[in-house]
Amino acid sequence: MVVPRTLRLLRGARNTSPPLQVRCDFDKVGRAKSTASVGSIGDESKTLNAPSQHAQELPPHSLLPNKMLLRSLLVATISSRPWLLTPALKMLQSLVHPRLSFVDVDKNPLLRSILKRTFYNHFCAGENRDEVQSTISNIKDMGFKGVILTYAREIVVDATGPASKSGASVSDQSFKEESAKDQGIEDWKEGVLETVNMIGEGDILALKLTGAGESAMKALAANTPLPDQLMDALQQICTRAVDRNARIFIDAEQQSVQTGIDTVALDLMRKYNTNGTAVVFNTYQAYLKSTPNTVKAHLDIAEKEKFTLGIKLVRGAYINSEPRDLINDTKPETDNSYNFIAASIIRQRYGTIGGNSPFPSTELFLATHNRESALMADRLVKEQLAGGLQPPKIQYGQLLGMADGVSCKLLQIGNESTDKSRSVAPEVFKCLSWGSLGDCLSYLLRRAVENRDAVGRTKEEYLGLRRETFRRLRRGFM
Ligand SMILES: Cc1cc2nc3c(=O)[nH]c(=O)nc-3n(C[C@H](O)[C@H](O)[C@H](O)COP(=O)(O)OP(=O)(O)OC[C@H]3O[C@@H](n4cnc5c(N)ncnc54)[C@H](O)[C@@H]3O)c2cc1C
Repeated sequence: MVVPRTLRLLRGARNTSPPLQVRCDFDKVGRAKSTASVGSIGDESKTLNAPSQHAQELPPHSLLPNKMLLRSLLVATISSRPWLLTPALKMLQSLVHPRLSFVDVDKNPLLRSILKRTFYNHFCAGENRDEVQSTISNIKDMGFKGVILTYAREIVVDATGPASKSGASVSDQSFKEESAKDQGIEDWKEGVLETVNMIGEGDILALKLTGAGESAMKALAANTPLPDQLMDALQQICTRAVDRNARIFIDAEQQSVQTGIDTVALDLMRKYNTNGTAVVFNTYQAYLKSTPNTVKAHLDIAEKEKFTLGIKLVRGAYINSEPRDLINDTKPETDNSYNFIAASIIRQRYGTIGGNSPFPSTELFLATHNRESALMADRLVKEQLAGGLQPPKIQYGQLLGMADGVSCKLLQIGNESTDKSRSVAPEVFKCLSWGSLGDCLSYLLRRAVENRDAVGRTKEEYLGLRRETFRRLRRGFM
């Protein structure tokens, strides 16, 4: 059942226009977990896709290869039990900053081997080109449309540091002088160019701009032009990605640097998104009160300047470190905001944009582990098509090792599509991080924390994996 609801979203940090009033007419979707809402979305998707009897019987996790299933079950068993996860988290923390050589993965081969075969292989793509390519082809063999690849080495943004406090008071000139001899930018560029060389047509490169180091971070925090060396690096990276028919995601980060990131992303979109498709995507975090307005402002700019707005929609990963007042007060508010933005783009009506006025060219990438948001979007796309309307290109993505139940459900919907609806089968991606075991430790720690914080989903994932393992055991793992 659909219940209209008005959300008054407050003015926030990224945008100074009056608050956008959004009507969220799928209130049940994504609000406090309700079995009825999950059921109704799933049922509608099934009806729309008319799956075969056989396909209906198979659970989503049936798409996982045996090895992946068993590794996932091991990780999910640990993640879904606080008495196992808490010591595992403590251990990971001590590995990130080892004080004894016994817990240093570069000095203890046994520890390294155990970690590599379990957590690392579950969440990460590989330490070198051969390992990464092998992971990519396994993912594509499962039916995924492609991969989003990112280089794991990163610096941690200090949101309380002088860069973010002093803001624009740091002059452009000083950035340029610093960057002339900036090894951080050079190392980042080499790593990212190596990453681009590993992806193929239709794949996506994910860029974390603060990964370029201190001078990049300062310029982003002050929202001043990036150092010339970094601009040249970005130019080379984008050109190489375009040559390989790949696309680029600019990741969203902390608010202290986000206005600067938005500026860079819009500039790249102006340059590369000019022929009706999106090569570059900016990331929008639905947990921010300001995001519905930010999206509206960027839609206006795209329409005025005639480029395609690439929208990668996430809920937001920095809730524990951001000023709390910038973020929606509750999870259901974030869910509503996420679903509102997604539905408005799919329906090509966003506040006063669309309807009688033209809607800008857009492409939407839903980066989410939330089953309800993903299935709602798929249902809306099909509704639009059934009504003779053309929604924008829409794709879905989940992190490697996370929410396989959601990824596989979307793949199943695609597999079950009739020939007529095959052209609208959901296109699903897995997001992979690559890098040495040492480089990926912080990334592994974040995944463990995310699993701890998403208790309900982690448990659901564990139960799905356990059911599938028993199903295969009964059939002798054939
Ligand atoms: C492919 C991919 C790319 C990503 N890229 C980025 C990126 O560039 N930048 C980035 O920031 N994140 C990124 N993320 C992470 C993302 O922002 C989320 O942290 C993560 O996906 C969990 O959200 P969810 O949509 O999967 O759903 P859920 O698990 O249903 O939602 C969890 C999220 O809800 C929000 N939330 C939780 N509690 C509250 C509360 N009390 N009040 C308000 N909001 C709350 C938080 O954002 C939390 O992460 C990416 C995720 C994926 C899958």
